[in-house]
Amino acid sequence: MIQSKPESNTKRLKTVSLEKAWPVLSPFCLAYTELERDEWYPFIQPEQIPFYIDQAIRIGQEAACSYAKDFNLQELINVLLKQGVGVRFLNQHALDEWVRAQYLAKTSTIEIYRPSLDQMEQFFRMMNQPVCTEDIICLHLYHEWFHHLEETKCGRTDLALPKIKIKKGLLTTKKTIRRTREIAAHAFTQAAMGLNWSPLLLDQLLFLTKQGWTKIQIREHFQKIKKLVQTIQSTSAEEEIQDEST
Ligand SMILES: [Zn+2]
Repeated sequence: MIQSKPESNTKRLKTVSLEKAWPVLSPFCLAYTELERDEWYPFIQPEQIPFYIDQAIRIGQEAACSYAKDFNLQELINVLLKQGVGVRFLNQHALDEWVRAQYLAKTSTIEIYRPSLDQMEQFFRMMNQPVCTEDIICLHLYHEWFHHLEETKCGRTDLALPKIKIKKGLLTTKKTIRRTREIAAHAFTQAAMGLNWSPLLLDQLLFLTKQGWTKIQIREHFQKIKKLVQTIQSTSAEEEIQDEST
């Protein structure tokens, strides 16, 4: 059941600062970890990686400017209903416990899985920063709403970006980088809700703490990602300088 008013002892999500309690990573570095999980990531030219990340973030942020604002839960549900989107709360995803929510394009339905809401609520409570349930639901809804907007208004993010060419013998096929859709959806959610951290950071912290990682291990892990991303960015910058001089 959705309560209409935030509980008085809880915070709004946009006032939570993760950096006070946890090691953090920039939205760009976090987007890199997402891109790296794409099936076709190995075929992206290293100097092109920052381009895909920047563009996906830009697409998400621009969609937030065009379609969203910091709605409360009731307002957001009303916007969704007007756009013909249904919302269902389910006890679990049939196949994958890590799926927090999903948008089903065929039926224009957003499904939110309760264990994800519980896990986030518990995480913030353990940080001594309990967050109102409505905002946690909104966090899930904004992400999935972006996927609805991709299908109905602004077009799919992966289709707006260059396809990757994959050569197999004499054949060349073209593939889209689907993970850019996730990067854009997170950027959309962050911008719409006015969060000072990417929802991808929360995802990472939830995942790593569930695996039993300590803060020190998480910090070291994040440092490695930062270094790797710095290398990629400098490769890309060098490439640009070479391009300009040729
Ligand atoms: Zn998504």
